[in-house]
Amino acid sequence: MVTAFVEGWDFVQTLGEGAYGEVKLAVNTETQEAVAVKIIDLERTPGAMDNVRKEICVHKLLNHEHIIKFYGCRKEGSIQYLFLEYASGGELFDRIEPDVGMSLPDASKYFKQLIGGVEYLHSRGVTHRDLKPENVLLDDFDNLKISDFGLATVFRHQGRQRMMEKCCGTVPYLAPEVLVRKPYHAQPADIWSCAIILVALLAGELPWDEPSYACQEYCDWKEGKITLNPWKKIDNLALSLIRKILVENASKRYTIPDIQKHQWFKKNFNKQKGAFSRFPSNSPSQSPTCTAPFKRFCSRQDLSPPGAGNGKISCSQPEARLLAPPGDSLAERVEDGANTISFSQPLHPDQMFLGSQFVGTPGSSQTPLQRLVRRLTRFFVKTNKDDTVLHLSKAFDRLNYLWKKNNRSLLTMSTTDRRNMPLVFKASLLEMGENLMVDFRLSKGDGLEFKRQFMKIKAEMSSVVCKAAVTWPMAPSQAR
Ligand code: ATP
Repeated sequence: MVTAFVEGWDFVQTLGEGAYGEVKLAVNTETQEAVAVKIIDLERTPGAMDNVRKEICVHKLLNHEHIIKFYGCRKEGSIQYLFLEYASGGELFDRIEPDVGMSLPDASKYFKQLIGGVEYLHSRGVTHRDLKPENVLLDDFDNLKISDFGLATVFRHQGRQRMMEKCCGTVPYLAPEVLVRKPYHAQPADIWSCAIILVALLAGELPWDEPSYACQEYCDWKEGKITLNPWKKIDNLALSLIRKILVENASKRYTIPDIQKHQWFKKNFNKQKGAFSRFPSNSPSQSPTCTAPFKRFCSRQDLSPPGAGNGKISCSQPEARLLAPPGDSLAERVEDGANTISFSQPLHPDQMFLGSQFVGTPGSSQTPLQRLVRRLTRFFVKTNKDDTVLHLSKAFDRLNYLWKKNNRSLLTMSTTDRRNMPLVFKASLLEMGENLMVDFRLSKGDGLEFKRQFMKIKAEMSSVVCKAAVTWPMAPSQAR
């Protein structure tokens, strides 16, 4: 639903949600410039005020190619808006195939960029404290961007370093010293989380629930039992790097310079032509399989609506008009110029937050973005809206979810994952011409577990899912 926000800007899509509120995509009606707007109701969420103030203070210090840019903020009554660089490539976790991971070249590229971003953060005296694939986003060119500075803090100021005391973050990604509630050093703890992310990239699973002796998988690792999963899926060179990082004693753990000197890190995993890669990084406009009118929305993922072309077309997102109800202003604009719309990062986001704490105008050389956020947790169905809801509700019952219908187009499901942790996610029904797309996004819980549930739902819905639509995981031929 497109909603008027500030004059000249429309909210066109909910990008995601977190503990404190929602993140929406706002698009300038004239220029199609795009920004992500994090919206926090300070009254509804106790404790949010201090945390958000801190998030703003920390995030506005940062300016790096692998960190989401902070454009500024604005407060209206109890609602706090944060204006952020829009990452149209979605979340990193969406690129991980559960229990498999991703190709080596992709894992190597993302890990190098992650380490580059964390190195910058640490050089500014900032620790993130919640590094995980859900907080790592991708831009239009598949470049990694660290996001969500809700738990970030300053550990070094004017050359003076302080120890951390708070146990915070997401348990499977936490370093052991964070769990024991004693003061710990900030940098090794972030580096540990990076290694857990690397395991997720290479093996599609997390190594343990928590790094404590109460957890058998962690004890096995400590005893060097690397013939078990996830380790047996990881090649020796990568494993030798991981073994130097996932060291319990933080003072013996690899530092970033150590990591950068390691052979696996330095190795160039050239993508060979035709080699397996789920997400080749060619730009959408270069894709030979794209045909007008989808050209501007084409990408490496097969998200084409059924019936579009010969089924080989590789489109990341529907045309924008399909995400908005007919008769609405953005929809009409896109309808008028289906081949010309493209989203770019804002040249003048200050229009959105006049009189607020604007910290700088993004440069005019920013990359034009051509798509709405890419997501692989979606499929097209052959059924109409009501029948789809019926099929979904039966599938959810079979999967023992608790679920509710928020409205005709939105359902919320909750269940527990393999770790018995709560998992809450949403399904939006989006009409796309003659077809209907069911788009799933995570509200609460672990990204990989969410993806596992998505695959189960898709299997349960197989009788109505369009075969030519979103396929995930992708066959290499479709990705090219
Ligand atoms: P958490 O509960 O993890 O602390 P939060 O309330 O701080 O969440 P974020 O993690 O910042 O919120 O954002 C929630 C989701 O919104 C992200 O996982 C991502 O899918 C989406 N999102 C956030 N920022 C952006 C952005 N700049 N561009 C695109 N999508 C974004």
